[in-house]
Amino acid sequence: MKPDSPPSANARHRVHRAADRAHYDRDTIHGIVDAAYVCHVSWHDGDNVLCIPTACWRVDDHLYIHGSNGSRMMQSLAGGTQACVAITLLDGLVLAKSAFAHSMNYRSVVIHGQFSTVCAEDKPAVLAGLVEWILPGRTQDVRAADANELLATTVLALPLTEAAAKIRNWGPRDKEADVDLPCWSGVLPMQMQAMPSKALDASCSTPEAVDHWSRGAVIRN
Ligand SMILES: Cc1cc2nc3c(=O)[nH]c(=O)nc-3n(C[C@H](O)[C@H](O)[C@H](O)COP(=O)(O)OP(=O)(O)OC[C@H]3O[C@@H](n4cnc5c(N)ncnc54)[C@H](O)[C@@H]3O)c2cc1C
Repeated sequence: MKPDSPPSANARHRVHRAADRAHYDRDTIHGIVDAAYVCHVSWHDGDNVLCIPTACWRVDDHLYIHGSNGSRMMQSLAGGTQACVAITLLDGLVLAKSAFAHSMNYRSVVIHGQFSTVCAEDKPAVLAGLVEWILPGRTQDVRAADANELLATTVLALPLTEAAAKIRNWGPRDKEADVDLPCWSGVLPMQMQAMPSKALDASCSTPEAVDHWSRGAVIRN
């Protein structure tokens, strides 16, 4: 499958509904994945359809998730079952003049495919990527995972090939007959915002990245 080009009409990641909002290029998809901390993973475990939220991060053209070897999600997905992953960033509430035309501004990505298990050799680097994802520079400050911790953890990779992004980033689209109705309409923008950190550990100086965070930095946008 060629990346960046619109998928064929019957491809499972082809957006049909509101297709003008669809994007298939790598930069757009990576940008949305990179702004997220959490994804929702769906799969069929043989009995039920499940949808579980979990932490995620990207390295190159793969989305990564991790978990205990005992997690049923990790066990099912490591077995190669088909999965579908959704990432959603809510950017605003769209208030229209009619109840019907209310909407949301968003950036979302849906990825289809099969996870593969990251081998023992690659696991330390991929997991270090997660720590860096949480806070850049963090791997320099903390103890790295030891052999037992690595053994107890499954890390899974999903290619970002069968993926589509969908973006809505405009104001209300009212019917012409509603445009002059005497009620406020517009967008209430939303953004993920860092908050001051609580000083739990007075035994060492605050790292620069934590200090930056505490000053209300805008988190990945
Ligand atoms: C914050 C938010 C709020 C939304 N609110 C509503 C709502 O209230 N009502 C509503 O009908 N829809 C809403 N949507 C859009 C919704 O996600 C679907 O795109 C839409 O419902 C069309 O569904 P469908 O099954 O017809 O998709 P189809 O176009 O048939 O889906 C085909 C394929 O396109 C891809 N795809 C579909 N939707 C998305 C997506 N959002 N992002 C990335 N890839 C996608 C998937 O790979 C899917 O398999 C919302 C989306 C977001 C992010």
